[in-house]
Amino acid sequence: MSQKASHPITRFEDCPMSDMIARRQSEECGCPEEEMVMRNVHVIIHMEPNGDGEAFLDAGDWVDEWHFESCADIDDLRQRTWDRISAMPWSD
Ligand SMILES: [Zn+2]
Repeated sequence: MSQKASHPITRFEDCPMSDMIARRQSEECGCPEEEMVMRNVHVIIHMEPNGDGEAFLDAGDWVDEWHFESCADIDDLRQRTWDRISAMPWSD
C-alpha cells in the first residue's frame, strides 16, 4: 500500500519516471515542440504562436489529445500537461 497521492510530484523535472526525449521545431509550421515521457505516457506538446497548446498522449492502450488555451510559453504548456496527467488516477 502506498500513499503517494498525498505527496504529488508537482514538477515534471522532479519525476524519476519521466524523461525529456527531444526538443525541436515542428517541420510543418515551425512551432516549438517537445517529445517526452510523463510517467508511463508518451507525450508530444506543440505550442502555437497565439498561445494555444496541444498535447498528444499515447499510453499504448489509451490515446488522447488535449488542448490548452492562453499558454504563456512551452514551459507553461508542459506544466499544465504534467498537472493534468498527475491528477489522473494512476495505479502505481
Ligand atoms: Zn504549429
